[in-house]
Amino acid sequence: MKRIAAWMLATGIAALPIAASAQVTEADLANDQDITTQVVTNGMGRHQQRFSPLTQINKSNVKHLVPAWAFSFGGEKQRGQEAQPIIYDGMMYVTASYSRLFAIDLKTGEEVWQYDARLPEGILPCCDVINRGAAIFGDTIFFGTLDARLVALDRKTGDVIWRKKLGDYKAGYSYTAAPVIVPSKHGQLVVTGVSGGEFGIVGRVDARSVENGELIWSRPMIEGHMGELLGKESTMTGELNATWPGDMWKTGGGATWLGGTYDASTNTLIFGAGNPAPWNSHLRNAGTPVEGNKGDNLYAASRVAIDPDTGDIKWHYQTTPREGWDFDGVNEVVPFDLDGKQLAATADRNGFFYVLDRTNGDLVNATPFVEQISWAERIDLESGRPVFVEDNRPGNPADTADGKKGKVIFAVPSFLGGKNWMPMAYSKSSGMFYVPANEWGMDIWNEPISYKKGAAYLGAGFTIKPLFEDHIGALKAIDPADGSIKWVYKNKAPLWSGVMTTAGGLVFFGTPEGHLIALDDATGEKLWSFQTGSGVVGQPITWEEDGEQYVAVVSGWGGAVPLWGGEVAKTVKYLNQGGSVWVFKLPTMQASAN
Ligand code: CA
Repeated sequence: MKRIAAWMLATGIAALPIAASAQVTEADLANDQDITTQVVTNGMGRHQQRFSPLTQINKSNVKHLVPAWAFSFGGEKQRGQEAQPIIYDGMMYVTASYSRLFAIDLKTGEEVWQYDARLPEGILPCCDVINRGAAIFGDTIFFGTLDARLVALDRKTGDVIWRKKLGDYKAGYSYTAAPVIVPSKHGQLVVTGVSGGEFGIVGRVDARSVENGELIWSRPMIEGHMGELLGKESTMTGELNATWPGDMWKTGGGATWLGGTYDASTNTLIFGAGNPAPWNSHLRNAGTPVEGNKGDNLYAASRVAIDPDTGDIKWHYQTTPREGWDFDGVNEVVPFDLDGKQLAATADRNGFFYVLDRTNGDLVNATPFVEQISWAERIDLESGRPVFVEDNRPGNPADTADGKKGKVIFAVPSFLGGKNWMPMAYSKSSGMFYVPANEWGMDIWNEPISYKKGAAYLGAGFTIKPLFEDHIGALKAIDPADGSIKWVYKNKAPLWSGVMTTAGGLVFFGTPEGHLIALDDATGEKLWSFQTGSGVVGQPITWEEDGEQYVAVVSGWGGAVPLWGGEVAKTVKYLNQGGSVWVFKLPTMQASAN
């Protein structure tokens, strides 16, 4: 029996006639944010607000939260665990490092089946062997693998239904984000991006039939490339050479590695595109400053809105034109409504928190959410473009005597971002966004580079450094009405976990030091924490079953920080790897005392 949240009834939203079903339906996906007995979308609702209307666990009793069970991913394969579990029909479906997927009985915490993608030699994941979660529709579970395949599994048995290649892993393609399931006039589609922006791949968004995996449409993210619809060429992305010089667009990056959002209110997919390739921006435009917008390198470092029926681009917003600091524009776009306006918020790698009009991509507001941003003075609200600090652009190697190393600059944020992949949450109760931010900078310089298949295509060197003695991580409560920061919760190590918020007035997130933490959503005061035994870089969720509210998170330290973190990586070397799921609830007496 699916229950409609008390929150919906209290706010006067009509209860939807949702019948219990043994198969995930379009209605299940469309109403996931309000059906408290399941979590069947990445983001706890297609808008990815990561807000639960549940209140059984709340500010007054969260201190009593205890483990219900824990589950080990086992084996020698540990490293970063960044997944968001799916909860459906008495089961948890959770992905793990090295492209594994586990089906676990929710009552007992015991494994029902396990799928291991058996990866080939020579895969090229840039940023650890992670996976961020699966998608579910009907009786099928979908997830992407490090050898760039999309796999469809029978949710009851784990048997493979179909498997499709997303790209050539030898050229650097891989996939780690949760697929997105959307309705369209071609039936239900499973939509993915591609990873590989550090290898000169070309980012795409692909839509496939959930039934057999056949490609319905494909939309490249770099101008000049042709889209595809129903087996034929469709339209060109942008206009050839409008914002890219020569042939650079052919290996232009713009990886869609973090997946996307589906906004039902405008029937739009919104995907982010990563850095243009290579990192050395002087190879992608001809001068400083470039005349007009000719060096912008569209649609890299942009949010791109796509029509789910055709794969055509409806609008775009580029966060970092002529990007040169690895400020991937992939961060999640979270639709929300304010004062009757249809808006969306996104916190970019580049340190600015943007509010967009989600009907057309127009900029409404942009404010810094980290300190000491060095590369831009501000975002001009009239033009929607950054006001660059030209001296903070890494120098052109061609300007030096030997041409080998351009001028070194110290830039903030570091290339791992004011915020990286880890998703923020939006509370319908408090009206605030809770953003997992990091305060760090980097020395960065440019070098010459040419494209070689399967080799890193950067043309840059870098060392990340902390800005403050006592913390790098900084969870920030941001008011989207004006971008003001209401409170900050500091953490010594960089934050790398997703955030969840609840109508119980809580904000849940994890730390590399191993804690799952619950804060008061109004003050940032710590109300509860639990040591999970390894770093928490996963995405917390909550649901209810038989009248009890549960909270779950995966634990397992890893991700990009230990691999790419420069001086910061040295400070977190002592942290132990792991691989487990933890599930929490209130002791029965505490739950029934509510
Ligand atoms: Ca990148």
